[in-house]
Amino acid sequence: MIDKTILIVDDTVTNLDILSELLSDYDVIEATNGKDALDIVEEDDIDLILLDIMMPEMDGFEVCKKLKENVETKNIPIIFITAKTDETSIVQAYDIGGADYVTKPFLPKELLSRVKKELHIQDMMAELKLLASTDPMTKLYNRRYFSKISEHTLDLSKREKKDLSIIMLDIDKFKKVNDTYGHSVGDEVIIHLANEMRNNQRKSDISARFGGEEFVILLPNTDSEGAKIVAQKLRESVENAKIVYDGTNTLSYTISLGVSQIDLSKNQTIEDGLKESDDALYEAKETGRNKVCVR
Ligand code: GH3
Ligand code: MG
Ligand code: MG
Repeated sequence: MIDKTILIVDDTVTNLDILSELLSDYDVIEATNGKDALDIVEEDDIDLILLDIMMPEMDGFEVCKKLKENVETKNIPIIFITAKTDETSIVQAYDIGGADYVTKPFLPKELLSRVKKELHIQDMMAELKLLASTDPMTKLYNRRYFSKISEHTLDLSKREKKDLSIIMLDIDKFKKVNDTYGHSVGDEVIIHLANEMRNNQRKSDISARFGGEEFVILLPNTDSEGAKIVAQKLRESVENAKIVYDGTNTLSYTISLGVSQIDLSKNQTIEDGLKESDDALYEAKETGRNKVCVR
């Protein structure tokens, strides 16, 4: 069984049977009309759609257009499977975003190959997206992706009138860690911190590596008091951790953190929040390190 879900849409049940049989290596969901198809795509995670064109009420073109209008569904590849062989239909299918076009009667193995090709492209796209949005060393989000997702989160917080806070953190005297133990142990420390952040965060929190040894956490539905608690917890678990290096030796390190809540009533931006957290972080550094300061 291949872990991909394919939706087949056709008003003729015999066609659905043939396609289901052909695609039996995949998880297959069937729909006999456009409306059901749209409902299913909304409910389930669909990797690929095989879409008939001639159907009563809503035809395949209309279904395709609706899917392409929705940000949630626009990237699902659609292979049209149809008895229509005229050039106009073929051109229209591609114009509205169809990935491929197969005419009935189709060659079963050829169709299977086309399905595989589309799923492969989807996998590559997912990999590219991941590469573009994460930091390879820590697997946390990178700065660019953070900028994008944080704007989206800010909009959502404003709309839902929910608190939003930012924690900025930086490893204390990290230069000394590098100088004492070497750059590759330094890297291990950075990776350790990233894992601590992952382990301490809630599902909705967004952690990112901002620069060398500088990180941020965006906390939706959280006021500065709540963010301070999260920051303290992370500070403590880092302070108490022992990192093994060279197989037997251990080292410890600490972090400083700056917390701020974005004031939505004053229309503050993510940039404003980052600045305030950075100021708070600076204060933590200036007043002794291994601590949390709040703005
Ligand atoms: P402070 O407590 O004030 O933050 O002191 P610090 O020594 O941590 O301050 P600073 O920001 O000046 O030093 C950061 C060092 O982190 C300098 C840089 O060489 C090192 N660094 C940045 N990125 C990496 C990395 O990916 N791996 C390693 N090993 N070191 C890095
Ligand atoms: Mg530092
Ligand atoms: Mg630094």
